[in-house]
Amino acid sequence: MTKYIFVTGGVASSLGKGIISSSLARLLQARGYSVTIQKLDPYINVDPGTLNPYEHGECYVTEDGAETDLDLGHYERFTNHATSQANNVTTGRIYQSVINKERRGEFLGKTVQVIPHITDEIKRCVLMLGKKQKYDVVITEIGGTVGDIESLPYIEAVRQLRYELGIGNTMIVHLTLVPYMSASGELKTKPTQHSVKMMLENGLQPDVLVLRSEKPLTNEVKKKVALFCNVEQDAVIESIDVKTIYEVPLKMLEQKLDIVALRKLQLDANREIDLKKWCDFVERVKNPNGEVKIALVGKYTELPDAYKSISEAFIHAGAELNIRVKLEYVNSEKITKENVVEKLGKMSGILVAPGFGHRGLEGKITSVEYARTSGVPFFGICLGMQCSVIEFARNVLGLAEANSTETAPTPVPVIDLMSEQKDITDKGGTMRLGAYKCKLEKGSNAAKAYGKTDISERHRHRYEFNNLFKEQLESAGLIATGVNPDTGLVEVVEAKGHPWFVGVQFHPEYKSTVANPHPLFVAFVEAAIKYQQTK
Ligand code: GLN
Repeated sequence: MTKYIFVTGGVASSLGKGIISSSLARLLQARGYSVTIQKLDPYINVDPGTLNPYEHGECYVTEDGAETDLDLGHYERFTNHATSQANNVTTGRIYQSVINKERRGEFLGKTVQVIPHITDEIKRCVLMLGKKQKYDVVITEIGGTVGDIESLPYIEAVRQLRYELGIGNTMIVHLTLVPYMSASGELKTKPTQHSVKMMLENGLQPDVLVLRSEKPLTNEVKKKVALFCNVEQDAVIESIDVKTIYEVPLKMLEQKLDIVALRKLQLDANREIDLKKWCDFVERVKNPNGEVKIALVGKYTELPDAYKSISEAFIHAGAELNIRVKLEYVNSEKITKENVVEKLGKMSGILVAPGFGHRGLEGKITSVEYARTSGVPFFGICLGMQCSVIEFARNVLGLAEANSTETAPTPVPVIDLMSEQKDITDKGGTMRLGAYKCKLEKGSNAAKAYGKTDISERHRHRYEFNNLFKEQLESAGLIATGVNPDTGLVEVVEAKGHPWFVGVQFHPEYKSTVANPHPLFVAFVEAAIKYQQTK
């Protein structure tokens, strides 16, 4: 039978429930258990696809094309296990589904209410993962903080599930903050006690408390928390700030979080654990053999969470090559022809990031021009690839008005809407989303990176390379080295004669994990290292 772990948070938001969930999953996996992680988000948006990255960080995309919370990226990067639409559920989706059922008359005239109809739908979404794929353990992370009005139906659903599934089949990990008062030199546990009290008022007793803290917790503190919050002392786990998030599973292992969890879930805790590769990876991240500077040119640079999967992919690629990638976020709105050398001249690689709309676009195009003409390795992702096509059309083909129709109507639409997209007016979930196949040209830098020519990558965009300009661009040296075999859509472009100039319409960053660093990121960093050596 599948066991269920619920991860809740108290006291403050952003304590890192996603990382704790991922770390616990990784440890259970290392002991041979199959685990998946799900996130329940208490907001009304049906998915985060329509959210501005400033609101909620990056929108992550799964194989099956779900636009999800960025925590799903952590789940995949830690566990190397693909997630799907079923792994991210929002209040919006829950209500949408209940309301659709009501419209179809499925409630047979009954009054539709938060309890039982909304809570039933939440329970269905949790149990579905357990039923469908036969995981040993499903970890469900509940977004938000206990005590929020929005979280109440979720907490109530967990209460019911705990009762229905029986003792030994569920567990609650509650994550809180233990603030340090420097004036008195004390760690304060009262907020944790209050937060657990609030859980108790809602009928939930946490089994494990993970306490985020700046300072190590003394035994005294742990004892006190255990006593006042009704948890065993070895189930009070500290989570202090570490150098890299990938160290968190090792910190949890030291305190036997996995053993406590297996004991609570009545699963065999004596299985061997295999974390050798993980430890080696963490060692390489912490002690690299040098550094290489890469610019990430984008418009959401004030909030690095907007590019989470990209920055993590660089950590994976760096570890693979035993080097630290020093990622410099450069705001594309501030880049002009006059200052581009000053802004990017010290970089050994330039990545032009994904994005939407016209803001910052010209700065991105100027960055591409600098990369193309100076020979510094260039990696364009999605909008970044589209910019490389616009740049080439303008500056090499001399088509000064070349542009994407996303920006403005243009007589030279080198990037244009696909015909299927032309009549779509809804914004949510209507882009080209999820995994699509791509055939790479033998001998291209992309094919060399992957070591094969048949690949599949995830997409999230509405606009496409316009094939009407393909011949012209190719004859001038911008080659379409990756094409979708079913539709003929161009997925990869490369500039002939340049050491490493690759633009991809898809998002390789979504598939980079600790176990499988993404080959394009590895190849790009390798090219950047080479460039750095010749400078
Ligand atoms: N805005 C562009 C499009 O929709 C690129 C999207 C992206 O970079 N994810 O095609």
